[in-house]
Amino acid sequence: MAQSPEEQHPVKAFGWAATDPSGHLSPFKFSRRETGDEDVRFKVLYCGMCHSDLHSIKNEWGNSIYPMVPGHEIVGEVTEVGGKVTKVKIGDKVGVGCLVGACHSCDNCVNDLENYCPKWTLTYNSINTDGTITYGGYSDHMVANQRYIVRFPDNMPLDAGAPLLCAGITVYSPLKYYGLAKAGKHIGVVGLGGLGHVAVKFAKAFGAKVTVISTSPSKMKEALEHLGADSFLASRVPEQMQVIRIFSNYYYFFFLFFKFAGGRGYIDGIIDTVSAVHPLLPLLSLLKSSGKLIMVGAPEKPLELPIFPLLMGRKTVAGSIIGGMKETQEMVDFAAKHNITADIEVISMDYVNTAMERLAKADVRYRFVIDIGNTLAATKP
Ligand SMILES: [Zn+2]
Ligand SMILES: [Zn+2]
Repeated sequence: MAQSPEEQHPVKAFGWAATDPSGHLSPFKFSRRETGDEDVRFKVLYCGMCHSDLHSIKNEWGNSIYPMVPGHEIVGEVTEVGGKVTKVKIGDKVGVGCLVGACHSCDNCVNDLENYCPKWTLTYNSINTDGTITYGGYSDHMVANQRYIVRFPDNMPLDAGAPLLCAGITVYSPLKYYGLAKAGKHIGVVGLGGLGHVAVKFAKAFGAKVTVISTSPSKMKEALEHLGADSFLASRVPEQMQVIRIFSNYYYFFFLFFKFAGGRGYIDGIIDTVSAVHPLLPLLSLLKSSGKLIMVGAPEKPLELPIFPLLMGRKTVAGSIIGGMKETQEMVDFAAKHNITADIEVISMDYVNTAMERLAKADVRYRFVIDIGNTLAATKP
């Protein structure tokens, strides 16, 4: 006979959950599974707030399962390990990112690309193989198969390191895969938010030249002086975009076609982190011939893709989502070696709804991280 969720998951847990598409988070009692042979259980100390948390609690992607405990930038300290766990021991500092499961037998999994497994299990808002809902890191503890546990090196701060588990790997993986993680490359980073600011840091650590492309001219000083970018391009301000609409897209198209389309740009690859609908043509125009525009943001509507600029310069538009577990570990180790962390604002658990409102307005520099370890318990009813 099938077991009830309570029987399958007897370990009491406490966190904050959204219970409907209003997205309002409130204290929530639930349970997690016992520590299996291959499982690692850890006390959550910090959890980053990713933009996907905001989309998900409000059901903006239409796939939300309630109640939902969000959070997939989770770090903490190991409290229990299963009999077959070799990767970590009690007391180790560890993290869990966006994934907690995959089939482990498909081509993707065999090649350490669990992130492209058609049967992946996400850390929250997903269904475990036992039929129960997965719950994320806005909670007191976490349990996951050791394959999905990332070791945190001693010199990596847990709070500022947490966002690497999603934001970090999301930009690191495509920089590597698309051949941009090399000295001498010129990399463009579109959008200077949670993903973008980490992309600049990784690109610089790879020895690349970095141009930040942002709609906010106010971010120029920050990009150049604080993050160490080499140059800054203010993409068109809204008024200018209106003018272009009035003059029609054709004017703009031909202007760029003659100016840049033959591969007269100067950037080898662009990491586009923007998750709102935006024009691609200006970005394609910045690329050298054979350049790559890599999308890592997730706009909820399709974007317009002009083809001529792709032909005239053999350009590629590509995508990428997070990274496999082996590469995620490699990324954290690389980050620790090069002192790369996210710029964060640490908040208490009871500030989370306000933080979500601020996140919606991009009013954060650059990632909120919830101090779960010190502030969650006090919110217990
Ligand atoms: Zn995320
Ligand atoms: Zn698989």
